[in-house]
Amino acid sequence: MPVSDFFPFIFMVSAAYLTTPAHGTDVFGTYWNCYCSQCASRRKVVHRLVDLFSQIPSRWIEELSEHRSEWLPLPMWGTLFVPKDSADIRNIEKLTKSIEDDDEESISFRDAGWQAVAATGIYAIEFDEELLLGIHGAGYNFYVQHWSKLYDALDYRWHESI
Ligand SMILES: [Zn+2]
Repeated sequence: MPVSDFFPFIFMVSAAYLTTPAHGTDVFGTYWNCYCSQCASRRKVVHRLVDLFSQIPSRWIEELSEHRSEWLPLPMWGTLFVPKDSADIRNIEKLTKSIEDDDEESISFRDAGWQAVAATGIYAIEFDEELLLGIHGAGYNFYVQHWSKLYDALDYRWHESI
């Protein structure tokens, strides 16, 4: 049987998986309202991860870089997140990679030194010996689109699992 005969089957399986995430994996999306111990625990630890970051207004960095006559493009969201825990910093740095998109905006971020954090949609840059995280977006749930993906990418296992 040709391999291509399997493709529709593979597609159906993955589509089913995407539409019905297991409890504990989509606690800010489909299962945001679920209070089973796995979902509740996972929501709590993803919140904890983000709560451990300092938050600073992007304006501060903007003013600092203007003052130094260095131009630094900043992600759209007006707050930058600064991990403080040295293990988090190391682990996030390990996930950074070049921004791949080739639109004008992505190129300007890349040229300025911003990197992508795995496939989380989060941008990272080292500035004044601090690792800054930024989100180039607004108007949606960052926990669904970014922070829970970061938690997964970091491969942390702080949550209860069944
Ligand atoms: Zn649940």
